[in-house]
Amino acid sequence: MLTLALAHLYPAEMSIYGDRGNVIALQRRCAWRGIELSVTAVEPGSAVEWSNFDLAFFGGGQDSGQALIANDLLERQGPGLRAAIDDGLVLLAICGGYQLLGHYFLTHTGERLPGLGALDVHTLGGKQRLIGNSVVEAELGGAVVRLVGFENHSGRTYHGPGVRPLGRVLVGHGDNGEDGVGGAVYRHTFGCYLHGALLPKNPQFTDHLISLALARRYGSATVLAPLDATLELQAQQTMLGRLL
Ligand code: GLN
Repeated sequence: MLTLALAHLYPAEMSIYGDRGNVIALQRRCAWRGIELSVTAVEPGSAVEWSNFDLAFFGGGQDSGQALIANDLLERQGPGLRAAIDDGLVLLAICGGYQLLGHYFLTHTGERLPGLGALDVHTLGGKQRLIGNSVVEAELGGAVVRLVGFENHSGRTYHGPGVRPLGRVLVGHGDNGEDGVGGAVYRHTFGCYLHGALLPKNPQFTDHLISLALARRYGSATVLAPLDATLELQAQQTMLGRLL
């Protein structure tokens, strides 16, 4: 049986707007194919051997939740997690998690939260929150996918040259409400503002992440078995029809 291991970063502090649904979606779409995905919670103080993990998930959080874990992320997990990211760990980070993978997050009250510095982005909090349904057009494994999600953030994220955009914003505010960029990619690490939860709403992205993780662990010849996603794709199309 194929097995994969996922680390869920700070689930108690960093799981808002249904972000846990991303872990459930990964687990279910693996299980339906006979792949066992084990999930390990990384809490403040956890000792983690990052080379044992194939996937990681880091959800969104309030500024106050981010402040609780920012130092633990940087100091305890920093070296191991950065090395794993450079080694192709498949990581999805949403909103507050995405912000903390960057260099820093300066909140709208002026608090500077240090980031992991794994993604070449930084985030500045603004007075107006950026809220609403969103559509980001992304290329995933050669296929163009219109990702649907929901965003609610005060942070504006700006990219440096070390990342490429995940996609372009067709509806909503995206990373900063200014340049039409929606999310960032570095190696197999993906950050974006799309709650929803993102993966249950966009099975193409779920399968892309599973494919990357299988290829990394078992070699690129491992092909993901097709799976019926009729209902999920109909729901996605319904949202696209409403929003575009
Ligand atoms: N606290 C961050 C912000 O407001 C992230 C919010 C979130 O994860 N939804 O920008």
